[in-house]
Amino acid sequence: MIVYKFGGASIKDYKSIKRLVKIIRNNNCDQMMLIVSAMGKTTNSMEDLVASYTKSYKNIKAKLELIKRFHTDIVKGLFPKNRLSALKVVDLLFNEIDKFLKLNKENDYNFIYDQLVSYGEILSSIIISKYFNSVGLKSKWVDARSCIITDEYYRDANVDFEKTSKSIKRKIKGKGLFISQGFIGSNKKSFTTTLGREGSDYSAAIFAHALNAELVTIWKDVRGVLNADPRYFNKTKLLKKISYEEAIELAFYGASVIHPKTLQPLKKKNIPLYVKSFLRPSREGTLISKHDSTVRNIPSHIVKWNRVLLKISSKDFSFIVEKKISLIFSMLSKYKMKVELIQNSAISFSVVLNNKYGGLDKLLDELKETFKVSVDKEVSLFTIRHFNRISLKHIKKLNQNILLEQRTYKTLQLVLSKNIKQENLFGFFER
Ligand code: ADP
Ligand code: ASP
Ligand code: MG
Repeated sequence: MIVYKFGGASIKDYKSIKRLVKIIRNNNCDQMMLIVSAMGKTTNSMEDLVASYTKSYKNIKAKLELIKRFHTDIVKGLFPKNRLSALKVVDLLFNEIDKFLKLNKENDYNFIYDQLVSYGEILSSIIISKYFNSVGLKSKWVDARSCIITDEYYRDANVDFEKTSKSIKRKIKGKGLFISQGFIGSNKKSFTTTLGREGSDYSAAIFAHALNAELVTIWKDVRGVLNADPRYFNKTKLLKKISYEEAIELAFYGASVIHPKTLQPLKKKNIPLYVKSFLRPSREGTLISKHDSTVRNIPSHIVKWNRVLLKISSKDFSFIVEKKISLIFSMLSKYKMKVELIQNSAISFSVVLNNKYGGLDKLLDELKETFKVSVDKEVSLFTIRHFNRISLKHIKKLNQNILLEQRTYKTLQLVLSKNIKQENLFGFFER
């Protein structure tokens, strides 16, 4: 069994979807699991719909209509003739969404989010499966919600690997091409859950883990894993072969080309992960496996914007030690804060946060009851793996105010006041 995953960019319109057929046919494999994301930017549009439904109550119908039109246009492009059955399924799914919007009584934003946003993946996988069948590529559609079993932590659900492995093995048997969705699962109440934004890579790894796959390939709009995000940096270098550990570190620090949870399930079963370009499928890309990293001499750069730096100290200048740290962490967890860097001294404790779920203001109110807190919003977190003298020189030339610095043997992290301007990164390697 081999597992292929196609993300939003690779299925953003009908022409891109046609390209998938060639890539799959070129592979010559009679046992394949295909995991697909929502098409193009559908997840963003669905998020926008959820925001209207729960907050502004404006333009819900128009927004839903736009999402529907986007999908029906793709169906029309894919099926010049005999498109009725595909259009019917799209209709059916949008009726389901409509019904949910009308009948839902639940107020929990995260719950509503998962029930609605997941339709992006359902739509794309059904359309693609039907299209494959229409061109003679026989495929079997599998509902990931009956395979991936999670807890009830909506929008960032945790996978129950034991139950999931059993259900996947039950559902996917024998040879053939199976198509399922990334990003989504369900809990024991049978409600849909999602695994966090960009979670489809992780889904591919979960299926691969359960099926003891031979390999996983995630098809991207870049050559492979590079030493910086090519959207912001020019003259990037390809990391041809890296170890699981190195990839885990890069993803953890924020190299968004791979979802950070993807590597662990693969490493456990020693399943190699290829990151390749869907635009140039014959090129080698990046191989991630147990073999030692060959990238020690290539510094990798990761920038995160819009982070929050908190400096927390006791009101009476007493030490910030175990009990207080534990209290701080229980508050961070309560407000779903993602902690991206920690540094402590005797009387202060600093954390860099990603306010992804919007709980910052409530967190600050609660923290301030017990602690003195200083806040820097809109800071950037700049990470360099395998930093060297040259990278330090490059950083200096950015001319940014450094609020906090942390160095380990392999990694340098800097918190820079004010978000770095994107145009300042472009010539970074040429300075
Ligand atoms: P998809 O959702 O289609 O699977 P993503 O958009 O999540 O793909 O990932 C691909 C994108 O990741 C690239 O377009 C690139 O801008 C970005 N990226 C960030 N860091 C890196 C990196 N180190 N190497 C390659 N691409 C990177
Ligand atoms: N469609 C989801 C997202 O855009 C999951 C994914 O693409 O990986 O976040
Ligand atoms: Mg994506």
